[in-house]
Amino acid sequence: MPSRRRILVTGASRGIGAAISRRLLTEGCEVVGIARDFTDWDETEERFMPIALDLADLDKLPHQLGEIARLHPAIDGLVLNAGYGRFGSLEEFSYRQIVEMVNMNLLQHLFVARAFLPHIKQHGFGDLVIIGSEAALAGGRRGAVYSACKFALRGFAQSLRQETANSGLRVSLINPGMVDTGFFDELEFAPGQEPSQHLRPSDIADALWTVLSAPAGTVFDEIVLNPLHKVIQFKKRP
Ligand code: NAP
Repeated sequence: MPSRRRILVTGASRGIGAAISRRLLTEGCEVVGIARDFTDWDETEERFMPIALDLADLDKLPHQLGEIARLHPAIDGLVLNAGYGRFGSLEEFSYRQIVEMVNMNLLQHLFVARAFLPHIKQHGFGDLVIIGSEAALAGGRRGAVYSACKFALRGFAQSLRQETANSGLRVSLINPGMVDTGFFDELEFAPGQEPSQHLRPSDIADALWTVLSAPAGTVFDEIVLNPLHKVIQFKKRP
């Protein structure tokens, strides 16, 4: 592997993706970050290359991703992280909202992987790390659509892991429990605020770096991490 890796991180502007990007920069990597809006990103590090893109716009995505792959042939790792939460009973989702969630929390990840795999395979090594969720492992009340996406991502990761091993490409899935990020800003609930009641974005960045820094022949197929205590706080309605 090269001493300086170039990693693409989706959802790099905030939350888990921002923590992962900062950690990769600290470790000496170059980071190509994708999100819609980087105005909150305060780093001036020149090894961070932000690209403003709406990953939910699937019609435009293949062409846009192809351009990024052409501009950054050195990319040898993907962190598929961007996503959002919407929870409720199935009947509370409109058909449009179901499509939007599947596009964003499942299909765009497949598109990004599809666009970059041929390029990464040419290196003869590489990493594809998917940020799944505890919702990839067990369905829960009001989580049917979100869990459907995350379960599917797990199947995708397991299959792709078999498919790409002979190309030197490692595929890993990281499934966090509740992480204290803006993910919950628009939701009716959030994790407890005591330190043992939520993960920090840096915890996921640590797990990511564990995956990437393993010897080339070693794969962390799946990492599950959770706060010591699972506490869900429901917000008061105004
Ligand atoms: P977050 O703080 O809300 O960050 C979400 C990121 O995704 C932002 O960078 C956002 O950037 C980007 N994003 C959202 N929609 C996008 C779009 N249409 N196009 C491009 N980028 C888009 O959430 P987070 O907690 O870091 O979540 C990151 C991932 O972790 C998600 O896949 C989530 O399912 C998973 N996860 C989160 C938790 C948790 O408890 N927080 C637990 C398990 C798994 P812009 O808004 O600038 O586009």
